[in-house]
Amino acid sequence: MSTDLHKLVRDAGNARAPFPAGSGGVASQAMAGHRFEAPIPSRAAGLQRLSAFVPRAAAYARERNRVVPPHDRVSGLSPYLRHRLVLKSETIAAAWSTHPPAAVEKFVAEVLWRTYWKGWLQLRPQVWQAYLEQWRRDGEDLDGAGAERLAAALGARTGIECFDAWIRELTETGYLHNHARMWLASIWIFTLRLPWTLGAAVFLRHLLDGDPASNTLSWRWVAGLHTRGKHYLARAENIARYTDGRFDPRGQLDERAGPLSEPPLDLGLRPLPDRAPLDPGLPSGLLLTPEDLTPEHSPLAGVPFLGVAGGWDREVTLALDLGPTAESFARGALDDSLARAETRFGVPARALDQAHWLQSAEDWARGLGVRQVVTMEAPVGCWAERLRQLDERFAYLGVRLVQVRRPSGIPCCGLGPPTGSAAYISMPRPEAGSTP
Ligand SMILES: Cc1cc2nc3c(=O)[nH]c(=O)nc-3n(C[C@H](O)[C@H](O)[C@H](O)COP(=O)(O)OP(=O)(O)OC[C@H]3O[C@@H](n4cnc5c(N)ncnc54)[C@H](O)[C@@H]3O)c2cc1C
Repeated sequence: MSTDLHKLVRDAGNARAPFPAGSGGVASQAMAGHRFEAPIPSRAAGLQRLSAFVPRAAAYARERNRVVPPHDRVSGLSPYLRHRLVLKSETIAAAWSTHPPAAVEKFVAEVLWRTYWKGWLQLRPQVWQAYLEQWRRDGEDLDGAGAERLAAALGARTGIECFDAWIRELTETGYLHNHARMWLASIWIFTLRLPWTLGAAVFLRHLLDGDPASNTLSWRWVAGLHTRGKHYLARAENIARYTDGRFDPRGQLDERAGPLSEPPLDLGLRPLPDRAPLDPGLPSGLLLTPEDLTPEHSPLAGVPFLGVAGGWDREVTLALDLGPTAESFARGALDDSLARAETRFGVPARALDQAHWLQSAEDWARGLGVRQVVTMEAPVGCWAERLRQLDERFAYLGVRLVQVRRPSGIPCCGLGPPTGSAAYISMPRPEAGSTP
């Protein structure tokens, strides 16, 4: 572990513990005969996971496709990266501080897939809207036979042993290995013939790292809708090989299905939202959302805030039909961030009311007497929508809502998928049809 990473782990651990004594330990659940270590929703735990993984990062390119619990050939960092409890920049820096860049190129490229997907969707937010609408329509349109197949899939009763095991793993742990996600999505679409939107919604409901960009676009990619005409077909032989023979669904999968098609979808680029700059002369409060939970390592680090607020919003649970495991991780992550911000910025912290999030945020800003509320940018998704609604309310109060974009969070306009070298970070390399 590099000295910098050592310091980060130590500093993160010094923030006030977000859980009552005894509740912050590793939770374990049974999973296919293995003990699954549920990720602890804190920055300290994320940095520890990063430092434990870094020595293995050079073997990642060779080993990453094997799907063998407890999945220690991959990093398990996604819930932390998703909520920016751990930053992409420190993840890449940690890998590069221990290995020559060429040795960890594959790992870095995978980390950058997340940025690529996020940038892609932020420049085309209408694709998220179209997904939400299609999801609702597909749910309503399902006929009796479709509803039965859906019930069997969700109940892990399809008779396809690997599929049923992955559904159980997903719902019990909130995690699935990337290769298992690809296989599951492919079987969902091409063998079970279920609408891809319903499968994407099931992932968002359960995944600890559930993300509008990575999830929607990966499902579209598997279906053959992202790279038009190029779909991902799960093959029994491939599943048997990469699961070390744990599963062998020979004869059970449709390995000949063609890609999906859809009515023309507007894929035109939209301008990036214009983010008003922070006014350093105004009394300000800091608002946290689960989109970015490390404000102390951001352009906000030196801002003299008067207070900090954050808390779960019940509307997000309802909008995404979020399951308890995913919600609990996001809530814990918010609590952890609130505690850290209270310490780092030396200001009072307010936990917002989950049942009246907008009103609660408004009351907090009014009570604090601030003229400006600053938050890290929420790109496309439910939290972006809630911030848009909050902005409207604040306008009546004469309070500015400022969303701060990380310099490294700027979407990679025009960049191709990150399948090349780490030079992708500074050098646009358009490539079509690459594999995430
Ligand atoms: C159908 C489908 C749905 C997916 N939904 C999500 C999602 O909602 N949220 C999400 O974060 N990832 C999603 N992924 C991508 C990927 O499966 C996960 O990021 C990865 O499995 C997380 O495990 P890990 O942290 O051990 O990954 P590692 O292999 O250790 O990779 C390190 C990090 O790189 C990033 N990453 C790796 N692979 C990808 C990828 N293909 N696309 C985007 N980022 C990647 C993640 O941030 C990950 O934590 C999806 C993939 C598929 C095929």
